[in-house]
Amino acid sequence: MSRKTENTAFVCENCGRPVPPLTNGSYRNHCPFCLCSKHVDEAPGDRASDCGGVMDPVAVLFRPGKGWQIVHRCRRCGAERRNVAAENTEAPDDGALLRALAAEPRREGTEKQERRKTRRG
Ligand SMILES: [Zn+2]
Ligand SMILES: [Zn+2]
Repeated sequence: MSRKTENTAFVCENCGRPVPPLTNGSYRNHCPFCLCSKHVDEAPGDRASDCGGVMDPVAVLFRPGKGWQIVHRCRRCGAERRNVAAENTEAPDDGALLRALAAEPRREGTEKQERRKTRRG
């Protein structure tokens, strides 16, 4: 658990933009521009996973007292992780993207609903 080495700048594997480290005392685990993350942890911060897949933001939840949480799902193995959104920092998470995701129903639920809607014939 060496927080100093975790909170470093990196280049987003999804959008290719350089991501600066957080300045709010926490450490960055996802891209503020496209909200994608990378599957490197088994438990948050442990860097124990060797999957390395890009994780897409699939939902955003608002937790009173905790703020925004982003649900990430790994493209490679399907693992899901919740991460606190980056706020009050240099390069915070894109607020418009967060709100758009929060307004959307969870993508994993749509398949079942579609089937119900289009079933008939
Ligand atoms: Zn990105
Ligand atoms: Zn994975």
